Amino acid sequence: AIRAAGDYKTATKNFWHPMSPSKQDPSQETLIVVSGEGNYVTDADGNRLLDGVGGLWNVNVGHNRAEVKDAIKAQLDQLAYYQSFDGVAHPRVYDLADRLVGMLAQEDAHRVLFGSNGSDAVETALKLSRQYWIAAGEPGRVRFLSLRNSYHGMHIGGTSVGGNAVYHYNHGPLLPGVELLDSPFLYRNPWNTEDPAELTDHLIRQLEERIEFLGGQTIAAFIAEPVQGAGGVIVPPEDYWPRVREVLDRHGILMISDEVVTGFGRTGNMLGSRGWGVKPDIMAFAKGISAGYIPLAATVFNRRVADAIENGPGFSNVIMHGYTYSGHPTAAAAALAVLDIVERDDLPGNAGLVGAVLQDELQALESHRYVGETRGKGLMAAIDLVADKGTRESVDPSSGIAHRIAAAAREEGVVVRPAGTKIILSPPLTLEADEAREMVRALDAALSRVD
Ligand code: PMP
Repeated sequence: AIRAAGDYKTATKNFWHPMSPSKQDPSQETLIVVSGEGNYVTDADGNRLLDGVGGLWNVNVGHNRAEVKDAIKAQLDQLAYYQSFDGVAHPRVYDLADRLVGMLAQEDAHRVLFGSNGSDAVETALKLSRQYWIAAGEPGRVRFLSLRNSYHGMHIGGTSVGGNAVYHYNHGPLLPGVELLDSPFLYRNPWNTEDPAELTDHLIRQLEERIEFLGGQTIAAFIAEPVQGAGGVIVPPEDYWPRVREVLDRHGILMISDEVVTGFGRTGNMLGSRGWGVKPDIMAFAKGISAGYIPLAATVFNRRVADAIENGPGFSNVIMHGYTYSGHPTAAAAALAVLDIVERDDLPGNAGLVGAVLQDELQALESHRYVGETRGKGLMAAIDLVADKGTRESVDPSSGIAHRIAAAAREEGVVVRPAGTKIILSPPLTLEADEAREMVRALDAALSRVD
C-alpha cells in the first residue's frame, strides 16, 4: 500500500542511515523521494523538485532514461546475474572492460577490475598498488600518501586514507602507514596564502620533504581525488596536479586517481585528471559509470601496473582479489547504456558549459551573511558557510544551519545537499543553463530566509 509522506517521516526507527538528519537532529524532516524524470524528482507529497544533488553525485544522465531501462530489461530477460570467478564470465562484462579501455586510451588504460561501489574501487586500487610493488620486486613499498579533507569511501583502507577525522572516530585502529598531506585549498590553508602559485610551491615542498623523510622506497602510492568532493569541492591550482605527478614520477610512486565523483564528465572533462593533463597509474570509478541505475565500480590501471603484475615472479602475478559482483552482467549493461549517452550527448561538454553558468551565478551569493565562498568546477560546486567572513571560521556544524538552508531551498523547489558546514551541488550532467539559474535563484531565496 502507498503510505503518505508523514508515515515515513515518523517511522525512521528501523531504517538507519549514518548521516541522516533524523539521527543528528530529530527536528529535521526527511525528504521522501518517490519518482524522477530527467533533472527533476518528485517527493511523496507530489512536489516536483529540481535535483541539485543528482542522487549523490551519480545520476549523471538524469532520471528515468528509457535507453538505460531498456538495456537493463534486455539483460534481465537473458540472464540477470552470473559470476566472474573460476573461468566463468558474461559477454557484457568483456564489452564494458573493452569500452573503458577504449574510452580511456589517453590515460594508457590497459586492464579493468570490477566491483559494486566506490569503496570497493578504492580498496581494489590500494591493494593493487601494493601488489604492483611486490611483483616489481620492491615489497617494502607499503605506505600511502593522501590528502587532508579527502574522502575515499567507507571500507577500512578508504577510511584510513581518508583525510576527514570524523570518519576515523569509532573505527580504529586504522591502517598503518598512511601519511596525510595538506589539501590544495586556497580558501583555508596553513600558510594563509591566497596566491595559487605560492600555495602549490608550499604543497610541493611539503610533498618532497615528506617523501625525503619517509624514504621514497617505502611508499606504494599517492591517492587523491582530482577535485575533492565530499571535503567541500576543493579545486586545486592549475599547476598542482602536473607538479605532483612530476614529483611522484621522480620517486617512482604510483598515482591513484579516485575518480568516483569526477569520472565521466562532472568537472567538464571526461575525467577529472584529464582536466589537469595528468595520467594516473590507477583510477577508481563508480557512481557516474552506471549513473546509479545499477551499482557498479571499476578500477582501471595502466600498462606499467598490468605488465609488472602479469610478469611478476612466483605468486605475485595472481590477483587474489575479487567480489561476488566483480562483473555483474546487468550492471554492465546499464553502464554500457549510460556511457553511450555520456559520449553521444557530450555530457562532459555540457557540464563544462552549464557549469560555467552555474559557477558564475553562484558568486552573487557571496553577499549573504553566512556565505564565505562559492567554488567549483563544471557541475560540482560548494557554498562554504562561515560564522565570520574575516577569519573564515566555519559555522558550527551542529547549528543545523546547512539543513535549514537546504529545507528552505526545497520549499523553493530545489534539492541541495546540506553537508555540515557546506551546501553541495552536483546536479545531473544533463542540466540546462536555465535550470542552473533556477538553482541559484532558489538558493538566493533560501539564504535570504536564514540570513
Ligand atoms: N571516493 C569518492 C571520491 C567518493 O566521493 C565516494 C562516495 N561519495 C567514494 C569513494 C565511495 O563510494 P561509495 O559510497 O559508492 O562506496
